[in-house]
Amino acid sequence: MSELPRVALIITGGTIDSVGTDRLDLAWYIEAGKRLGTGELLGQLPELKTIAHVKEVPFRRLPSHALVDKDWLDMVRTIHSIFDENKADGIVITHGTNTIEETAYFLNLTLKTDKPVIVVGAMRPSSAISADGYLNLVNAVKVAADPHSRGRGAMLVMNDTIYSGRDVTKNDTYRVQAFQSRDLGPLGFADADGSVVYYHQTVKKHTENTEFDVRNLQSLPRVDVVVSYVGADGNMIEAAAAVGAKGIVSAGTGAGRPTPAEDEAFDRVYKEKGVIMCLCSRVASGRVVRSPGLAKRGFVAGDNLQPWKARLLLALALTKTNNADEIQRMFDTY
Ligand code: ASP
Repeated sequence: MSELPRVALIITGGTIDSVGTDRLDLAWYIEAGKRLGTGELLGQLPELKTIAHVKEVPFRRLPSHALVDKDWLDMVRTIHSIFDENKADGIVITHGTNTIEETAYFLNLTLKTDKPVIVVGAMRPSSAISADGYLNLVNAVKVAADPHSRGRGAMLVMNDTIYSGRDVTKNDTYRVQAFQSRDLGPLGFADADGSVVYYHQTVKKHTENTEFDVRNLQSLPRVDVVVSYVGADGNMIEAAAAVGAKGIVSAGTGAGRPTPAEDEAFDRVYKEKGVIMCLCSRVASGRVVRSPGLAKRGFVAGDNLQPWKARLLLALALTKTNNADEIQRMFDTY
């Protein structure tokens, strides 16, 4: 019998290892803050032994909305040390779903490996009737263990579906089919017959083919997101600049429009402090494009990235340059 692949499991918290007060507790478990202990999640899944040698790697556990940039930087270092020491063929990271898409994109932009790194979560706690995390985790291990998953960037596996870390976003607060890649669709499936099948691959550059290597970084430049709405003035933009933002992402209306007052504030903080602005949209899908006028004013257009994903790319871009045209090139590439 051939050797099984080795998969490292990094458990970072979230709903997937949360424990509710009873089997119908599908919402309040977050406040109770109770989690499965080390080894308990794996212990519930003896079936994994037929798929891979899975070994748990210690990492801090927290709800995903409590993560800070430093957690990502440490996660990237942990992943690299596992691969550098040849301890695994693939990695699965269990994670809260609230911000899992940000982690997926951050890893997609920064990992220097072609080995599979899969993030996975759950919409129902481990103690719930019909808890979805167990099968999600089995599927994530299958995807991480599959040699065909190499070179596809960091991916998210939920509800039998494989998504690109760049494109995936959360679309529902409680349903198990919470994730989608909206305009772009999933990459493939971990399907009912046990197979991992791919149908698409992203043409956006990722992992080994990006210019971002954060292994020696201890922090990222501050980038804030400002949401636009009828009557929004420029105060949030001025405030972000005042507390040291080097970049600001606008979640603009429609195809990416801030209000006139916000526009004025953006121009001011760009001129006075060199703060780089990136225009995205509060609309669920579609591209935000860079008109000649926006280019002249030093704006970057966020393409079809969600504002919180554009925040990550802008922060990474600002570790390299603060030239808006050069940053636009990065947004067109990743
Ligand atoms: N509700 C979240 C989850 O689905 C909690 C979190 O993001 O940590 O995991």
